[in-house]
Amino acid sequence: MAESRAGSRPQKHVDPIDLFDVRSALTEEERMVQDSVARLVDERILPVIQKCFEEHRFPRELVPELAALGLLGSSIEGYGCAGLNGISYGLICQQLERGDSGIRSFVSVQSSLCMYPIYAFGSEEQKQKYLPRMAQGELIGCFGLTEPHGGSDPANMKTHAKRSGTDWVLNGAKMWITNGAIADLAVVWAMTEEGIRGFIVDKGMPGFAATEIEHKFSLRASVTAGLFFDNVRVPEENVLPGVVGLKGPLSCLTQARYGIAWGVIGAAQACLSQMLEYTRERVLFGRTLAHNQAIQIRLAEMARQITTAQLLALQLGRLKDSGQMTPAHVSLAKWNNCRMALDIARDARDMLGGAGISAEYVPIRHMLNLESVITYEGTETIHQLTIGRALTGVNAF
Ligand SMILES: Cc1cc2nc3c(=O)[nH]c(=O)nc-3n(C[C@H](O)[C@H](O)[C@H](O)COP(=O)(O)OP(=O)(O)OC[C@H]3O[C@@H](n4cnc5c(N)ncnc54)[C@H](O)[C@@H]3O)c2cc1C
Repeated sequence: MAESRAGSRPQKHVDPIDLFDVRSALTEEERMVQDSVARLVDERILPVIQKCFEEHRFPRELVPELAALGLLGSSIEGYGCAGLNGISYGLICQQLERGDSGIRSFVSVQSSLCMYPIYAFGSEEQKQKYLPRMAQGELIGCFGLTEPHGGSDPANMKTHAKRSGTDWVLNGAKMWITNGAIADLAVVWAMTEEGIRGFIVDKGMPGFAATEIEHKFSLRASVTAGLFFDNVRVPEENVLPGVVGLKGPLSCLTQARYGIAWGVIGAAQACLSQMLEYTRERVLFGRTLAHNQAIQIRLAEMARQITTAQLLALQLGRLKDSGQMTPAHVSLAKWNNCRMALDIARDARDMLGGAGISAEYVPIRHMLNLESVITYEGTETIHQLTIGRALTGVNAF
């Protein structure tokens, strides 16, 4: 042992939340994105987020700052958007979720679930009308797919739209919609005689209402709402012309799930960072917690899981940026990384003892948030069944 120590190279500084130096695999531009979002999180999000969570309040005042950094619709080319690559989008999500999953959810929904479908399937007029103002944070969007009777089976949606002259008449309800009660527009997926179509429903259209869901113990710094459509007349010019069928909403979900696979690593990193600090200082049985083998094994386990998740996300990003990413790749990464982050947050909460139930320490907030993140955009089971289908060719849903 002494010999191998003497023979080993001098240790260079290792970042405990980036043990395999994933940062060195990033381009200069990607590192700049990572640094600028990290600064925003440290200076503007972390100082307010605990209070927001406790008060069940989304810090809307931060939206202009997110916009000013180019974080809204960051992957879109043109229309006032930053046109960054997939890895940069992942890094944005990761840094934001180091702050809070609620802030990352806001950006995911605005970017991947509302701006992306308008960009990918919208008319030129729709793109001109909505995208620049959404990139500026002047308009907030939401995405209505899930319905009260069951989100895992969206093909069975009840919300429907019928042609009426040159308009469409929309009826139904959507449930658990992020940003719903503060949104200026909703991309709503509804069944028509032609199949599932996407409708841009503007706030204030008669018959459209959004009601905030109260009593949440998770994502408390995020707005979640029910959307209700009672004979809402939607003009033809608000229908997304470029897609018919479930592939419309599913392709948006692939974009957003990709961001989640990166994002949750940030939540896990925040928990590990705090545990390294805490175990260095907490003295029990005459020595710091960090001196205990059992504690070190738990910290090592966190580092192992974070490292493997980072490498998975990096390769996923490379597949995305080279046009080779499939929905099954995204399912595996979303499943693995959400499970990893939730397990780490729960273990960190336990290692804090009684203090772990206080929002003064980050793990319980991340843990509660991650209960939503592992559920939304496809539950863990749904992603497991997606991988099962890819492996066997048999649909077991
Ligand atoms: C905070 C929050 C924000 C959200 N934001 C949005 C949003 O912005 N837009 C949107 O459209 N939706 C949103 N959702 C909804 C989310 O995507 C759904 O909750 C999720 O897809 C699960 O749907 P469900 O809640 O109806 O559960 P269900 O579909 O009823 O599932 C219940 C349980 O059954 C399991 N299950 C389902 N099918 C099978 C099967 N075949 N075999 C085995 N088990 C199965 C599930 O894994 C789950 O454990 C949000 C949810 C939350 C909690």
